[in-house]
Order: sequence, then C-alpha cells, then structure tokens
Amino acid sequence: MINSSVKFIFITGGVVSSLGKGLASACLAAVLQARGYKVRLKKMDPYLNVDPGTMSPYQHGECYVTDDGAETDLDLGHYERFTGVSAKKTDNITTGRIYSDVIARERRGDYLGATIQVIPHVTDALKDFILSDITNEDFVLCEIGGTVGDIESLPFIESIRQLGNELGKLRTCFLHVTLVPYIKVAGELKTKPTQHSVKELQGMGIQPDILLCRTEISIPIEQKTKIALFCNVKPEAVIEAIDASSIYEVPISYHKQGLDHQVCKHFNLNLDEKPNLDRWINISKIQQSSEGNVVVGIVGKYTSMIDSYKSLIEAIMHGGLANKTNVSIKWIDSELLENKDCSINDYLKEINAIIVPGGFGKRGSEGKIKSIKFARENNIPFFGICFGMQLAVLEFARNVLNFKNASSSEFGKTSFPLIGLLTEWYTEKGLEKRDVLSNLGGTMRLGSYNCKLIEGSFVEKIYKKNIISERHRHRYEVNFKYIDDFKTKGLLFSGMSPDNNLPEILELPSHPWFVAVQFHPELKSRPFDPHPLFSSFIGAALNQSRLL
Ligand code: GLN
Repeated sequence: MINSSVKFIFITGGVVSSLGKGLASACLAAVLQARGYKVRLKKMDPYLNVDPGTMSPYQHGECYVTDDGAETDLDLGHYERFTGVSAKKTDNITTGRIYSDVIARERRGDYLGATIQVIPHVTDALKDFILSDITNEDFVLCEIGGTVGDIESLPFIESIRQLGNELGKLRTCFLHVTLVPYIKVAGELKTKPTQHSVKELQGMGIQPDILLCRTEISIPIEQKTKIALFCNVKPEAVIEAIDASSIYEVPISYHKQGLDHQVCKHFNLNLDEKPNLDRWINISKIQQSSEGNVVVGIVGKYTSMIDSYKSLIEAIMHGGLANKTNVSIKWIDSELLENKDCSINDYLKEINAIIVPGGFGKRGSEGKIKSIKFARENNIPFFGICFGMQLAVLEFARNVLNFKNASSSEFGKTSFPLIGLLTEWYTEKGLEKRDVLSNLGGTMRLGSYNCKLIEGSFVEKIYKKNIISERHRHRYEVNFKYIDDFKTKGLLFSGMSPDNNLPEILELPSHPWFVAVQFHPELKSRPFDPHPLFSSFIGAALNQSRLL
C-alpha cells in the first residue's frame, strides 16, 4: 500500500529531444524541496536495452551508478545533484527491463495462461514501477524519456494516463515540456510546435496541466495566452523556461516564473509560505563573484561526446564553487597524444591540472599514460579516476619500478597482469563470484563500497575521516601483491578495501597533488556540497595557476 497522500507529477516532453527535461524535473523537485516537501524522482526510458550499462557512451552519454549498484540514465545524476536525494535501483526503468520481467513471469506461469498484452500487462508492470518503493515522500516526479509521439513511449504514456484516471486530479499532475522556437529572420516566437505537441498528447488521453516552455527569449504575455487558449490550459500555467547562464540558476528562475506556485495550486496546497531558496541563491552569488580561471585538462576517449563525462564536469564545477574560482575544461583526445610526432607540451601547456577519467579498452590508453607521466614529472596536479587510477599504476610500474611489461588483462593476454580481473570477492552478502564468461553487466563491481584510509595520509586529511563510502563501476582491480614495491619508490596506496585486498586510492606524497581513485567520486558531488577530492584538486589547480 502506498502512502495515500503522495502526489505524482508526470513529466513528458514534446517537439524535439534534448529539451533538458531531466534538468527541468530535477529543478522542479529542488524548488518543491525548498518548500519543505520530501521529493523522489523516477525516470522511465523507452529504449529496449535492459539498462544503460552496456550502451555506448558515444550514443547515450554517461551511465550513472547508484549506491545500490544500478547502472542508470544520466538524468538520475541531475536528480541527485539538485535534490541531494540518493537515487535507487527502483528509480529507473527501461522498456527492455519491463518486457523481460513480464516475459519471465509469463514463462513462470504467473499469468495462469492469460493472453499477455501491452494493455494491461505491460502497462500494469509500468504502474507497479511508478508506485513501487515509495515511503513517506510528498511528491514523486516521474519523467518519461523520449518525445511524445515516439512509438516506443506509447505504453508509458498509456500507463500514466491510467494512473491519472485512477488516482484523480488531486493526486496527479501532468507537466509537458515543449519548445517555443525563435525564428530570427522573422523576429518571432512560434507557438505552433507546442500546439501540435499538446494535441498529440491529448490524442493519447492526456490533458497537460502545466506547460513548461523552453525558449531563447522571454515569451510575451500575448503568446502565452495564445498557447493557453490553443492547448486548453490556464494562461498562468504556461511557464517560461528561458535559457540560463548556469544550470544552477534554473531553480530560482522557475520559482520566479511561478512553476512551484502552479504545482501547489494544482494540488490545493498551502501557498502562504515562501520556499527557502538560500542554497541556490548562495550558489548564484558565488558564481557571480568568482574570480580567476583555472584550466583543467581532461584526457579521455569520448571527448567528442561530453555527456559521457556529465557528472565529472559538474563535480569539477562544484570544486570551482568551493574555491570561488571559475573553471574551464580543455578536452584532450588521448589518441592524439599517442602520435609519435605529438609534443605533449603543446597539448598540455596552459593547463593547470590534469584528469584522466574513467574509461574502457586499450584504445587511447597509451596517450593517457603519457599524460600521467607528464603530470607526475612536472608537478602538475593530477587526478586519476577509475581507469585513470589503473593507468597511473601502470605508468609508475613501467617508468619508475621498471616493470616494463606491466599491463592490464583488459588489453588482452599479458605476461604481467598488474591490473587483472578479480573473480571472487566478499561483500555484505557473502562471497560473490564472476568469471570472464559472465555477461558484461554481471562482471562489474558496482555501487557503493567502503574504503579505509591510511592514517596520516593526504586523502585522510582531505576527507577528514578514515572510512569513506564511494561508488564503483569497473571490472578490473589493481593486484595488491605489489603495493610494497610501490611504497619503496614513494607511491602510497592510501585507501584500501576493508579486507585489505583491493587498492582503492593511491597518492604520491612527494608531488603537490597526485591522487588516483578506483571509484567515481564525481557521482557523489553536489553543488551545495562539493566533493572534498574535487574541492582540494581545484584548490591545487588554483595554486598551480598562480605559479605560471
Ligand atoms: N575499464 C576499467 C575496468 O573495467 C575501468 C572502468 C572505469 O573507468 N569505469 O576496470
């Protein structure tokens, strides 16, 4: 039984994709939170993949990992960053997952021989997802991926239509995000695409209650009235969502446009108290008063698709907020660094710090190793994340310990798998096993794990505690047997798994800032609570910029 006062806001999108529906959902949740409500966000993705774990980052952007080990859509990262509420496995569903569950149940005979159909079996499963795992939330915001009219999302739209009917108007609100394009040559904003998109939604039985209109320029009242008239909504429920200079300005801007007011009005909620937006006002003030500019170079493989590094980019910006400095990112394609004629100095000059982020596969890895060597030898602040840590281990092993053949089994057969596939390890649930034949998703160490920090280490000072919990997403591990060899040459494994078997963090005490971690700290950074590693790293980059 779900709590009978929980209210549902269903967010759909129309006209075009990439309207920033995920961000809009996250920002609306943030403003409702500022009114004192407990919020929860869920995302329904219409694609047939069972989860985004095996999707190419070039196509789908980052795969966001939750504490409980789900590989989810990157929008869940927005949700967490704007609300601070940790997402769960039960917050993201795909058509692939729903169909495979329904089919598995059919095979088990759960449906007692009934004919299995999209309506009601798939739509029931979708409704179960929406209603599942809700405790004491006031609002559940449920974003439907894709654009209204897509064939794939039809069962999703149908399931929210049914819920709207079953729960009634006072418990459900339909918010439709559309585009009001500005035609430069005509000097006009066009409302027709919004009208068409709403018509499409109405054709599927849904009358939107609120329209959130993405626009480049302010929408005049006449245009809003026109949209309201043609789309059958109240003029005050046509909300302008104008492009912002920073995504962290959006919650304030939504509030100014009256979005939270309209939502509360729809649900007959008390409107006397003003929301407490201090958190966002504070961030806005810092952004406006930040001085200087540090340049962080990211040496990666997916630099043509920067959504692959969404959380990383945001965590870097949070580090900037913590230091009240502006940060810009220079993207460096690691494969270019592999070119024999490439002078690494040319690529990395004017960079104040280097990050080698998470990644997969051999291609481009030697270029990343080259950049790590450059950072180590030239005292440039260096931050290695996941794959970046594994490559920092290989760089040090090859160039300092003289383990010339040291490699990772990820790159193929090797005589010296310093980084290897671990097949057994202990978790809270007991012994977990995997092998090379396990399916791709199944072989990963996923989700939050504890890590203990060595007393007196640099990272212990940064975290100001000695047990931390961070999220993982990787298949390979550094072989702990060699940690003493590294230590003799000055590289310290300053974070280890609680059983001491898995090196989780390394640092070079002789270097101004050289830290690499086996986990993804960027996933836990929030604008109002920047991750300590990113705050410290950007601080080091700032020091470096002052040396130039
Ligand atoms: N490819 C490495 C592994 O699977 C690192 C993964 C990552 O950076 N997320 O272990």
